Amino acid sequence: MKVLVLNSGSSSIKFQLFRSDDWSVPAAGSVTRIGEPEAVLRYSWTDAKGSAQTLEERAAMPDHQQGLQRIAGALARSGALADPAELLAVGHRVVHGGEAFHAPTCVDDDVIEAIRQVVPLAPLHNPANLDGILVARALFPNTPQVAVFDTAFHQTMPRTAYRYAISDDLYREHGVRRYGFHGTSHHYVGRRAAERLGKPFEQCNLITLHLGNGASATAIREGSSIDTSMGMTPLEGLVMGTRCGDIDPAVPFYLSQQLGLDNDRLEDLLNRQSGLLGLCGDNDLREIQRRAEEGDEAAELALGVTAHRLKKYIGAYLAELGRTDALVFTGGIGENSAELRARACGGLEPLGIQLDAEANAAASSEERAVSSPQSPIQVWVIPTNEELQIAREALAAVS
Ligand code: ADP
Repeated sequence: MKVLVLNSGSSSIKFQLFRSDDWSVPAAGSVTRIGEPEAVLRYSWTDAKGSAQTLEERAAMPDHQQGLQRIAGALARSGALADPAELLAVGHRVVHGGEAFHAPTCVDDDVIEAIRQVVPLAPLHNPANLDGILVARALFPNTPQVAVFDTAFHQTMPRTAYRYAISDDLYREHGVRRYGFHGTSHHYVGRRAAERLGKPFEQCNLITLHLGNGASATAIREGSSIDTSMGMTPLEGLVMGTRCGDIDPAVPFYLSQQLGLDNDRLEDLLNRQSGLLGLCGDNDLREIQRRAEEGDEAAELALGVTAHRLKKYIGAYLAELGRTDALVFTGGIGENSAELRARACGGLEPLGIQLDAEANAAASSEERAVSSPQSPIQVWVIPTNEELQIAREALAAVS
């Protein structure tokens, strides 16, 4: 039997098909540029003889319904999903679950309405996620649809961590509080780290660092998130590819007064023109590292600001947790950039974090410890796998 995972964005649908017995992936791919004159389906699968196959198709797909129909057609024709009755569940990534959702949830009309209610908190993401759910429900009417929320893992944060120091009414009437994101990834790498530490997750205190184009840090106490760096939206916290992360909230007023920037311009500036891109003109960390090695000052500054912020969060979470078992790096940067891991952990030896320079520098795509054997707090690199976590949670929700 199988589980299909869908990640539906504003103009794309990414998908992975899992076998529920061994969690192998017989088929995966994406449709991109939905709504443009020519959308692209990229599809890879394992055929009946066990050979890897790929396919690329270009065609008009005006909406998500057409996109998902193409995906279902490719899955059926390739034999990866010959009969939809093989599907035990479709798991959907949903970015914002507000306070309503603490766990993966089987979709019914009430759930759809509740996801719609939080659209104002995630106007760029939730409508597209909902589209994916509605279309999949129509296409696979006999298969349970499960919504898995990026915010759910962080619903265990205490009030002291999730409330902003602003008027109570703004929280009660408008939901202004910290929610946190990347929960599926923090949860997945946290559980994997617990396994590698040989301890039940429920006994582990961890700091997980998801560093990709978006980036967030989470403090996990005894298997539950107690604090995370992203806030009401994914703009707060660490320095990201194009997002500024933490900033004095008065900066937007100042820019509005001095430069006459309106809300749309400010939103674009802080979400899409800031972070690494704003600091040095590039948001690909590989390129930034290359430039910094050649002595480029802006690239060096971008690395420095990013590592400084990261170190601040690690220090804050060490203080919140008291006892910490391990630091866990994940995401494209966390998994691959030995340089940023070294910069973030450098100087933290008195706090119990001792990297092993050689282990940290070794390139690998495997789960691995990069701390020295005597380090009181272990440091791990754990490749994230949000799709697998969504597939497992979706199956658990319907079982
Ligand atoms: P997303 O959040 O879009 O899923 P990823 O997790 O794929 O992003 O991370 C993208 C980031 O990872 C980019 O900044 C990219 O430069 C960085 N990255 C990928 N591979 C490497 C590498 N080998 N060394 C340093 N950075 C890398």
